[in-house]
Amino acid sequence: MKTRTVELVAAPREPHFVGDGFRVHNFIPSGYRMDMQRMNPFILLDYNATYKFPPSPTPKGVGVHPHRGFETVTIAYKGRVAHHDSSGGGGVIGEGDVQWMTAASGVLHKEYHEEEWSKTGGDFQMVQLWVNLPKKDKMSAPKYQAIKNSDIARHQLANNAGHIEVIAGAFEDTKGVAATFTPIHMFNAKLNKGGKATFSFPVHYNTALLVLEGDIMINGEEEVPTDHMALMANDGETFKIEASDTAVVLVLSGAPLNEPIAAHGPFVMNTREELKEAFEDFNNGKFGYLED
Ligand code: MN
Repeated sequence: MKTRTVELVAAPREPHFVGDGFRVHNFIPSGYRMDMQRMNPFILLDYNATYKFPPSPTPKGVGVHPHRGFETVTIAYKGRVAHHDSSGGGGVIGEGDVQWMTAASGVLHKEYHEEEWSKTGGDFQMVQLWVNLPKKDKMSAPKYQAIKNSDIARHQLANNAGHIEVIAGAFEDTKGVAATFTPIHMFNAKLNKGGKATFSFPVHYNTALLVLEGDIMINGEEEVPTDHMALMANDGETFKIEASDTAVVLVLSGAPLNEPIAAHGPFVMNTREELKEAFEDFNNGKFGYLED
């Protein structure tokens, strides 16, 4: 197995607010020689680095908006998020939980700080990913996978190094509970100080690491500090990480779709014609109704 090297280490860009409840650093696709194809099928990564929200009697968040053509994956590390959608669904994403929403043919939803959490406020840390769907599945039926932290498989590492939470795909013999349309690995590596882990993915899988706590050394030579992302090159399969301090690392790897991407706002399709249809369907109320 050939070593997969680090292509670049990206520092967090200036944060911006999504609605008034999510203070995010966009890592994918803005900049860093990255577009929606570079980490495809991961076409967007917004990272709300740990940020203290003051108490608010009215939950902060983002109001009703549509999505079509992809999946949104929300991982709550600190704080709690509530969501509601046009199919009547809704729920709370608690600390350590993952919500995997397949927007596919279209949903309207809203995302807010959970009401009780909002009243006290506190540290909030969250990742939202957009996972692209292949052309044949873009217009399939919407669905949710509400993955509680207790449902996430854990792989204990040797030598008290820590453990790997397997959200999707597999780490060695430990399989993730999330169903995906295309091959995807998504892990939280939770490492003790000095803990080591080795990952191996097919060379053509697009791969990146986001360091949420602590810092890590990749292949013994590239340091990645807290709140930084390492984009891995497509030049080998295997890489090693070592935690310089207690660390939490989101590990992403997936088979690229090799299809054209036409994206505008909340819609990600294959052609401009399909984007136009999405706007028309949205304007004609075909995404349903949701009260703001
Ligand atoms: Mn959304």
